[in-house]
Amino acid sequence: MFVSYLKQVDRCAVCGEPYGHIRSDDVAPWLTVLTVGLIGAPIVVLVESHTDWPNWTSMTVWPLFGLLLALAILPRAKAITVSMIWFTRGPGSELG
Ligand SMILES: [Zn+2]
Repeated sequence: MFVSYLKQVDRCAVCGEPYGHIRSDDVAPWLTVLTVGLIGAPIVVLVESHTDWPNWTSMTVWPLFGLLLALAILPRAKAITVSMIWFTRGPGSELG
């Protein structure tokens, strides 16, 4: 679906369906923030309540954890968003 990290291919490699023009705008980042919060917050609370890490460890591990989780989720969130716009023929899915 992507030629690079977040750049969509112009057409489906199998059937030629065009979807390179579909713009998901800020839905994917929004979905990413929501998901990182929902997945990340319980993990942080669970780990912090069962460990006795010094502050510097927590302040290094959790921002890195959040960043990596966000970078992993963002392209997937964009793929879901573009797919939903394409499937529902939503605004921005029309050609030209
Ligand atoms: Zn296809």
